[in-house]
Amino acid sequence: MTTPARPANRHHKRPRGEGQWALGYREPLNKNEENKKNDDGLNVRQRIIDIYSKNGFDSIDPADLRGRMRWYGLYTQRKPGIDGGKTAILEPEELDDRYFMLRVRIDGGRLNLEQLRAIADISNLYGRGTADVTDRQNIQLHWIEIESVPDIWKRLEAVGLSTTEACGDTPRVIMGCPLAGIDTEEVLDGTEQIQEIYDTYIGDPAFSNLPRKFKTAVSGCPAHCTVHEINDIAFVGVVNEQGEKGYDLWVGGGLSTNPMLAKRLGVFVSPERVSEVWGGVIGIFRDYGYRRLRHRARIKFLVNDWGVEKFREILETEYLGQALPDGPAPEQPRGGRRDHVGVFQQKDGNFYVGFAPRVGRLDGDKLHLIADIAERHGSGRVHTTVEQKMVILDVAPDKVDGVVAELEANDLRVNPSTFRRQTMACTGIEFCKLAIVETKATASDLIDELERRLPDFREPLTINVNGCPNSCARIQVADIGLKGQLVVNDAGEQVEGFQIHLGGSLGVNAGFGRKVRGLKATAEELPDYVERVVRNFEKQRDGSETFSE
Ligand code: SF4
Repeated sequence: MTTPARPANRHHKRPRGEGQWALGYREPLNKNEENKKNDDGLNVRQRIIDIYSKNGFDSIDPADLRGRMRWYGLYTQRKPGIDGGKTAILEPEELDDRYFMLRVRIDGGRLNLEQLRAIADISNLYGRGTADVTDRQNIQLHWIEIESVPDIWKRLEAVGLSTTEACGDTPRVIMGCPLAGIDTEEVLDGTEQIQEIYDTYIGDPAFSNLPRKFKTAVSGCPAHCTVHEINDIAFVGVVNEQGEKGYDLWVGGGLSTNPMLAKRLGVFVSPERVSEVWGGVIGIFRDYGYRRLRHRARIKFLVNDWGVEKFREILETEYLGQALPDGPAPEQPRGGRRDHVGVFQQKDGNFYVGFAPRVGRLDGDKLHLIADIAERHGSGRVHTTVEQKMVILDVAPDKVDGVVAELEANDLRVNPSTFRRQTMACTGIEFCKLAIVETKATASDLIDELERRLPDFREPLTINVNGCPNSCARIQVADIGLKGQLVVNDAGEQVEGFQIHLGGSLGVNAGFGRKVRGLKATAEELPDYVERVVRNFEKQRDGSETFSE
């Protein structure tokens, strides 16, 4: 008997597309795409107001609950008491609590006192006092019930804030330097460009169905505080050969499980054209972005496959209708840390005071207190940073000591240890459904322990604690990146722990930390482990070498 011949077309199958709209793949290729096609995420707002807030949690359509609610910053939080071992094996509905996390977007990190107090009130009234400053300048509240959402929106909108497109496959919060307009060394102030992008595009149905999220930064910060290297699109302040101020355009950065650094397109974007160019890049993402597989749906994969030349050509020819001029790369960032913690003089002779809450964790009362401190000392603005910190702006020289004293007295450290200053933690198992381990409390305990054991350590050292491989707190670009997972302890039991990544950084030596093979620590062993790493670094370092070098 002869073996049957293989079908003739076996090796000539049409290559499977990536689900790119521009190439004709308009039919949804997975559940998420189907949901987005069935109804725009932005339409859930009216249903929340008219139906869900009135009829309660059980009236929420599942496709809205686990999909479209995100278009307004609402995520169901994790049901308490489900350990990290169950994260991957339970169905989403088994992990869902009846309460929501609500993300308030704070574009450019800019808050006035009225806005800060509105968030504080909402936190106390509806969020059991919770309030976390995130590493993308947002503030997140927890324990939100669907019944209160319309009132929350009313309160936010009354002061010019919103939750529109704070999550979901949308253009997320636009990051900007919290010192825009006041930093003595800034290249330029990006505030107007951020506002223009916000006003033109946020909430526009033309850009509310993207392949996945789209993260933006616009900044002229001399310290490069908005981490342009790991955003989907970033405009970085530069001065061109003619002495004009504008931006260098970067695209395709992102972390998560397949980290990539953003690439320069080599173009100069004048401030007046930022909004238009942003519209072109997000248009490319919408039309050419990969929609078949969610884990390949970020713009970084497209940029990586096309290369910068092709990306620039498509942007110029298909989306802008004209070429952009070449432009210079940004100057190297101002040395040291990017976090704006401490007391520094502004352009106008006043001072700003940056301070470090513990791993971004605040509460409604603390937000009120911060607003009161600012007001008592003549300031009307408190901005958020991209490192889970805050800055009080416009403090008169004779008021600085008073502000510092009051903040310090309330555990809002203006002169923090390295560990308090540079440790970040994501939400973790307390509220996040994807989490495998606890993060905020673990990181807070780690800070206490390291301050006790290494009181004289002053060098820059970032420690980023993540509850799962998703890297919300940027595992790969920290000196010590900790990725939550279950590990086996000496007694052979599965316990919470971390895979260690060492030596990641941004800026001059940007690169991802190495996963140290086999190197894991239980949550309990963490202080011993980090202490050992720090002591070895101190022993072996050469002169002014930093940790990542
Ligand atoms: Fe949740 Fe993981 Fe992001 Fe932490 S890193 S907030 S655990 S998804």
